[in-house]
Amino acid sequence: MQIATDFADAVGNTPLIRLNRLSEETGCEILGKAEFMNPGGSVKDRAALWIIREHEKSGDLGPGGTVVEGTAGNTGIGLAHICNARGYPCVIYIPDNQSPEKIDILRTIGAEVRPVPPAPYIDEMNYQKQAGRYAASIPNGVWANQFDNTANRLAHYESTGPEIWGQTNGKVDAFVSSVGTGGTLGGVAMFLKERNPEVRTVLADCMGSALYSYITTGEAVMSEGPSITEGIGSSRATDNLAGTPVDDAVQVTDQEMVVMVYRLLREEGWFFGSSTGINLCGTAKVARDLGPGHVIVTMLCDSGAKYQSRLFDRAWLAERGLSPD
Ligand code: PMP
Repeated sequence: MQIATDFADAVGNTPLIRLNRLSEETGCEILGKAEFMNPGGSVKDRAALWIIREHEKSGDLGPGGTVVEGTAGNTGIGLAHICNARGYPCVIYIPDNQSPEKIDILRTIGAEVRPVPPAPYIDEMNYQKQAGRYAASIPNGVWANQFDNTANRLAHYESTGPEIWGQTNGKVDAFVSSVGTGGTLGGVAMFLKERNPEVRTVLADCMGSALYSYITTGEAVMSEGPSITEGIGSSRATDNLAGTPVDDAVQVTDQEMVVMVYRLLREEGWFFGSSTGINLCGTAKVARDLGPGHVIVTMLCDSGAKYQSRLFDRAWLAERGLSPD
């Protein structure tokens, strides 16, 4: 019998899907991990589950505890589901420039949502810092701290990495991922490199982020932005990313990403969000670099449904000088 026993048990073990057009165009096998099929709808269910389990194991989260997080949305959604299943209240600080769909989902599933004006990480009013302070100010408050809590990358070291290795029978030449916290790329890279140091690990960066520069020069210098992507890009190397074996980075523009997500929708029926578009554009660049005959895996992070009012609204795109055509 193969029956998931509860919400947490349904997280992970996502299918690995061949992206046919991209594979044909590049002569590589381009494979995407279907993270949008997680029960909370994104790759972040894994991090949310590992973080909550870690706090439960250490004893600082139990009955009467409240989980607090600063999140662009998806980690909050994963946390809110798991908190419901385990009886913890969940308080979410989110920059108020994130998609209304994500804020609505968070409220619908029962999180207390506190939208705050966007502020850089160095600013004390940054959403992550506000979440940390609030958690410390309430009895039994626990700050998930996805950016620097390495239970996040452990989730990918213990689940995503082994799943990719098993699903490809160890035949994987490269892994490509965008980075928000770095949990996905850091954890998968650590696992795959342990199995085979020859696996190439590449960070796909959106514009307006410092990670391309961090990987290629060692210094985190912001590239020219902005970007309409959500949940990815960073001004700093978090504890989840620092020290992980990442070989290289590629940059992807919003225009390239927009064309990619619309093509996949029109030509193959896939409905992906912006970070997945960045991942697939980055993967195509790596495939061209490596040449035909390679197996390249990336993440299909979440569905386009969370971005209908933006990425999938042509007028909204046009106002930003972007076009799907
Ligand atoms: N894609 C989406 C849609 C996300 O919400 C996130 C996380 N914020 C990522 C990608 C990046 O994942 P990670 O935090 O593991 O780097």
